[in-house]
Amino acid sequence: MNFNVAPLPQIRFGGGRLAELPDVTRAWGCRVLLITGARAFRATPAWQTLTEALADCHLHDMVVDGEPSPQLVDAAVARFRDANIDVVVGIGGGSVLDAAKAIAGLLPFGNSVLDHLEGVGRGLPYTGPALPFIAVPTTAGTGSEATRNAVLSVQGEQGYKKSFRHDTLVPRVALVDPELLHSCPPARIAANGMDALTQLLESFVSTRASPFTDALARDALQRVARGFEAAWRGGDSEDAARGREAMAYGALISGITLAQAGLGSVHGLASPLGAYFPIPHGEACGTLVAAATHANIRLLHTREPDSIALHKYAEAGRILSGQHGLSDEEAQDALVAKLHAWTEMMDIPRLGNFGITEQDIPRIVADSRGNSMQTNPIVMTDDEIAQLVRSRL
Ligand code: NAD
Repeated sequence: MNFNVAPLPQIRFGGGRLAELPDVTRAWGCRVLLITGARAFRATPAWQTLTEALADCHLHDMVVDGEPSPQLVDAAVARFRDANIDVVVGIGGGSVLDAAKAIAGLLPFGNSVLDHLEGVGRGLPYTGPALPFIAVPTTAGTGSEATRNAVLSVQGEQGYKKSFRHDTLVPRVALVDPELLHSCPPARIAANGMDALTQLLESFVSTRASPFTDALARDALQRVARGFEAAWRGGDSEDAARGREAMAYGALISGITLAQAGLGSVHGLASPLGAYFPIPHGEACGTLVAAATHANIRLLHTREPDSIALHKYAEAGRILSGQHGLSDEEAQDALVAKLHAWTEMMDIPRLGNFGITEQDIPRIVADSRGNSMQTNPIVMTDDEIAQLVRSRL
């Protein structure tokens, strides 16, 4: 055993806990920057309740619509730099949380996030400290509420999708209220759920997995297995509420395990896919996870048949299929079958639906070897990665 546990936020989890946000916020100060998405949360009575409860504070607010760019972060830092903000609160999906995380990181300094963005930035070290940041997720997918990175992207021919990363960017508080998922349409629950599931599975079989992350991932996979379909069907039943709770928990834990153990080929590919094409992150993960899991298992059997990852895939197969008496090979098949079945049932779109063609494969492959690909349980050749992408066009 040889592992580190990186910083974690204070975690407040449970239905209805959004009500605690005003007091949790005040504990950090009264000059508040509140960052939300454009519609979902602001359309609920909870928005009015929250702004009324903070009415005696200096409340600044901004909207993040779509996956955030470095330019959005820089503009927000310039806009709020003189407001002497005490605490940043982000309420939204991964896009809002990542934007808020990066803004909290740079408000004390006022420089451009491009100074620090991995791979494309100026490579200047960032040492923090960031402003206190409270993360309130309204999707169950990215786990950004528990991670130390903010993903920023520019989309198009010269596009990129890269992280601004540092321990001090970890939110001080992750306030996770599963009831916020109630307004998510089934397609969002599906794509985000596949993202969380992918993060759990990839960190479970990662070359950097530890007993600590394994214990968390194993239990969260069990909860996701039981709750995913009910959350996706939605509605007001107790079953649906329990499903949303399971998915919110699974996403939170996936953020913890990914931050500690790393990811794999699906997230390696999600970066160039999201940079060059208008494919949301959840859909990119969801469309690839079954095929990527199948490819990893097949390649491990051929090249590294003694790999511990094969046993872990089998374990995940027993958990997700609920068939606990299966042999390792049967359980690996059951895992791939279950992932394919969910992909079909939940209608996760193929890569071709986003305009991706055979001609695009070489540059997608060339840009897929970032951090995540480094912890895939088997090293894949360019041809093998290309075949994986091709199978989902
Ligand atoms: P998102 O934040 O882009 O939201 C997707 C859509 O869902 C938006 O239209 C949003 O308005 C809507 N929405 C959000 N909450 C809703 C609700 N409760 N009801 C109805 N609609 C709602 O999507 P996401 O998948 O949560 O986040 C994606 C971003 O997170 C990407 O940029 C991705 O790269 C990043 N990411 C970050 C990390 C990390 O560790 N920092 C990890 C994985 C992904």
